Amino acid sequence: MTAQPLTTEPTTGPTASAPHVEDTLRALVARLTLTRKVRLLTGSTAWRLHALEEIGLRTVTLSDGPAGVRGTSEDPTETSVLLPAPTALAATWDLHLAARTGRLFAGEARRHGVDMVLAPQVNIQRTPVAGRHFECYSEDPLLTSAVSGSLVGAMQDAGVAACLKHFVANDSETDRTQYLAVVDERTLREVYLAPFEHAVREVGVWSLMAAYNQVDDGVLAAPATEHTHLLRDVLKEEWGFDGVVVSDWLAAQRTVESATGGLDLVMPGPGGPWEDALVRAVETGDVDEAVVDDKVLRLLRLAVRVGALPAVDAGEPAPEVDAALPRELAARATVVLRDDDARLPFAPSAVRRVALLGPNAVDPYVQGGGSAHVRPDRVVGPAEGLRSALPDAEVAVLRGGDNRRYAPALDLARCTDPRTGAPGIRISLVDGQGREITGDVHPTWDGWWRDLPDDVHDVLLEAVVALPEPGVHHLELGTVGRWAFEVDGRPVGQGTRTVGAEVVLDSSINQPPGCTADVDGGRRVHLSATVQSVRNEGYGNQARAALRHRLPGQDADAEIAAAVEAAQAADLVVVVVGTTEEVESEGWDRDSLALPGRQDDLVAAVLDAAPDAVVVVNAGAPVLLPWLHRARTVLWTWLPGQDGGHALADVLLGAVEPSGRLPWTLPASAADVPVPHALPQHGVVRYAEGVHVGYREWERRGTAPAAPFGHGLGWTTWRYDGLAAAAELGPDGTVELTVTVTNIGPRAGREVVQVYLEPPAADPAELPERPVRWLAGFAVVDADAGRQVTTTVRVPARALQVWDVAAGRWTTPPGTYRLRIGRSIRDLRLDDEVTVPSADTEEVPLS
Ligand code: BGC
Repeated sequence: MTAQPLTTEPTTGPTASAPHVEDTLRALVARLTLTRKVRLLTGSTAWRLHALEEIGLRTVTLSDGPAGVRGTSEDPTETSVLLPAPTALAATWDLHLAARTGRLFAGEARRHGVDMVLAPQVNIQRTPVAGRHFECYSEDPLLTSAVSGSLVGAMQDAGVAACLKHFVANDSETDRTQYLAVVDERTLREVYLAPFEHAVREVGVWSLMAAYNQVDDGVLAAPATEHTHLLRDVLKEEWGFDGVVVSDWLAAQRTVESATGGLDLVMPGPGGPWEDALVRAVETGDVDEAVVDDKVLRLLRLAVRVGALPAVDAGEPAPEVDAALPRELAARATVVLRDDDARLPFAPSAVRRVALLGPNAVDPYVQGGGSAHVRPDRVVGPAEGLRSALPDAEVAVLRGGDNRRYAPALDLARCTDPRTGAPGIRISLVDGQGREITGDVHPTWDGWWRDLPDDVHDVLLEAVVALPEPGVHHLELGTVGRWAFEVDGRPVGQGTRTVGAEVVLDSSINQPPGCTADVDGGRRVHLSATVQSVRNEGYGNQARAALRHRLPGQDADAEIAAAVEAAQAADLVVVVVGTTEEVESEGWDRDSLALPGRQDDLVAAVLDAAPDAVVVVNAGAPVLLPWLHRARTVLWTWLPGQDGGHALADVLLGAVEPSGRLPWTLPASAADVPVPHALPQHGVVRYAEGVHVGYREWERRGTAPAAPFGHGLGWTTWRYDGLAAAAELGPDGTVELTVTVTNIGPRAGREVVQVYLEPPAADPAELPERPVRWLAGFAVVDADAGRQVTTTVRVPARALQVWDVAAGRWTTPPGTYRLRIGRSIRDLRLDDEVTVPSADTEEVPLS
């Protein structure tokens, strides 16, 4: 039996704060000319920083996270461990798993030659439609802080820098490089800045990323890369951040404003607003040289911490990659939304015939789209997972209808080169006069050309495509900028939109196709597509395209009927529904919370025929489940990473308890969602709900969600016995509770004990308006069947505090706070209270 405290240990990794190290670094800075110093402050490539031999500085390499460490190689054989999407980690509420994730990132970073991982993402899940919802942790700042803090601490302990992103109020994607987030200062402090503050002050994070958007915090309205108040006054001065503020990619636009505003490093490079322009700005006196020196000092401090300035110190050796983690994490994170009659887990010996149904059973969505994407080491889907766990069972796999808006990728096995007849697609690079520079036949492609030579203006794709099936075939070209599409030498269409940074930022490759053509089958067609290549500062010359194809005669009704028939013949029916890369991705927000395609019809039809069917939801962010009340067992398996199929089998067949708890609220209807969209109005996203983000607004309105924040059933039952002692308010402002729970079910299990605070009832004129209740602490306990456990939950002082805007400090409003202890925010089992005396409202420590 174990219990986990909520605290995250400050990092013990190499620190440059020792006076002799700082002195050495300052002396190094003093040796450098202005030009040399400024050169260090912009990337040398999209992912690397400049080396400087004369001071022994090697290049520092950066790579995206946060579901794995992608590395910087373009080599398709260089793969990475793909973990479940970050929300799944938060769903474990397990800080040991978060620390193991941090160590795994460090090992993966070292394996890929990476010094800094652009993760974790600690933006708050303000609206369920946010495109990057899956990349964030929770709608709650305390849970986000605790999980990300553990991860960052463990990663940095192994000598790899974390880069916390995106600072700040980058909680949605629509017009993300343009919009102004208007957030009042108190809300910003209590909700959106909280995870950043925790990482800076409690964990000592070495870097963070300034966001694309602009922020109006009531003090200043400015781009996040130039926000003097947030970057300099709050982050660096008030919180004492001694690390590096990196711009989001291409986010920094103006020279003087970003240099004096608190940004330290422009990415990607070369190019951007600094370089020679910053040298000139210093020479003309617009930027003080001391400002540049401070940035260089921060950069060298970072280099010391990651071992890139060996003259001073080096990081710890990288840990071994924790091979069991992807599977264990995916299983642990699984949330049991429903399990009537406690049917889980199923005895493997009782399972002879499995019907594995649903589009996501055939094509699981294992990670979200955008910069978080990695090339996984492998992907074990549900079919492989169940077959390997049930070697003697028959597993029938049927899709039950499509869930995609756009056609699937064209199978290159259908393609041959029009010139030579060789298998594959011909890809030619073309100059400004339409002349071919080079051309070759490729058996595979990923539709994204990076680092093209400068003279390339277009990429020409040509193939003879075999369409032997009779009927109408649907062909699509998806791309970002200018394009032209021909079938059998006839122009089908062309697009004239020229693009710039969108080629990488927009991710619109998954968005509506530029062009479609319906052609008769039973023959071969000659396809030719020309797509624009975009010269893009920092990212180089790039082009993107997708060729897609839908076969004739795919009829959803017939597929659903076949799935129903298979369900009737099986003794275990598992329906896997969910999202796809068209739905959950960086680059856009969702326009609907419904499952795409006919998936709701599929589930309803299968439940009619097989009421015991287990429904598995493979999605990162909330989707509506209109059939939830009819299903007996429903599991939420997230975007489960490379071993999701094994994890699903572990959960269904009893190898691991699915002990996830929702880190957000699952709405029953779109109309109930407090922040249903984040569409900027005249360029402004107004955070009008204030501190009532996520479940707090659900509590204020009293609306019943489909599943509340903190909900998850597991496979045993828990009794909340009581508190071993009354809650105590410590001299440092923290509150300690000792909670006793008993596992009264038939199996060993894990419980997440959750503590919520309710504010003192008092004259609202005297006290600031506070949420009805909010998460204040939690502990994870394991217990065998029949065993009782006592665990300590520590409520940090900050959980009781409010930001006093007028006084510019944290205060603890006096009065009697109610502590509500339970299994979710809507399943509260125990009560206690704690009184804060009125005398002292001095600032107390964060933890
Ligand atoms: C994303 C960042 C990412 C960066 C580099 C940006 O578009 O917002 O999260 O780290 O690209 O890929």
